[in-house]
Amino acid sequence: MRMVESFLMRTPCYAAGLKITVKGLMLHSVGCLQPKASAFISSWDSLAHGGFCVHGFIDGEDGTVYQTLPWNYRGWHCGSGGRGSGNNTHIGVEMCEPVCTKYTAGSNFVCSDLDAARAVAERTYRAAVELFAMLCGKYGLDPLADRIVISHREGCARGIASNHGDPEHLWGQLGIRVQVQLDCIGFLREDIKGYGLGMKAVYGVSGAVDGLYFCGKLRKNLIYCHMLRGIMQTVALL
Ligand SMILES: [Zn+2]
Repeated sequence: MRMVESFLMRTPCYAAGLKITVKGLMLHSVGCLQPKASAFISSWDSLAHGGFCVHGFIDGEDGTVYQTLPWNYRGWHCGSGGRGSGNNTHIGVEMCEPVCTKYTAGSNFVCSDLDAARAVAERTYRAAVELFAMLCGKYGLDPLADRIVISHREGCARGIASNHGDPEHLWGQLGIRVQVQLDCIGFLREDIKGYGLGMKAVYGVSGAVDGLYFCGKLRKNLIYCHMLRGIMQTVALL
């Protein structure tokens, strides 16, 4: 994982300088079709950029993680819900999104190059696994425990975030679906756990299955995969 420190020091959020006790990690997707983290960093780093600030962006073109706030700063990444705000407890990281055609209405978009878009989504997913595994180690968090690793969408469902559907909206529309017991975020949690246990993650394209998948090699050589095109299967069980 390549990580670059690029704090958004001109933002009101950074200036506020409030600290949190990190209790979890929230994964976001930027919600506009922009793969370059640098585009967000340059446009956000301003006093005029009042409303948002996150702890990091994952670049869609090369998977570099840009850390934009100290991890224990209080970010402004998820708003709030009926039970408070995940900003008080969770680090928030944005995955940049592939270049597609355009967003049409709300979280819906049309994609002109599905294969290229899936490659970007896979790249940012991998980096998120590695980054979150590192952060789980740093803060003593179990990614499989309740409320630790969540998406913005899950944060909303739990009443601690605004009404957004990311990043599942992205994966769903790119055809990344899971048939069996776990959803995509569930598999993200599994992959983070495996990575944090020192199991070197294995990613790639299965020759047996049409399309890309996300795959992490876990303890005992259990290999979990997120297949595109509605297919999920366990590739190898030893
Ligand atoms: Zn979000």
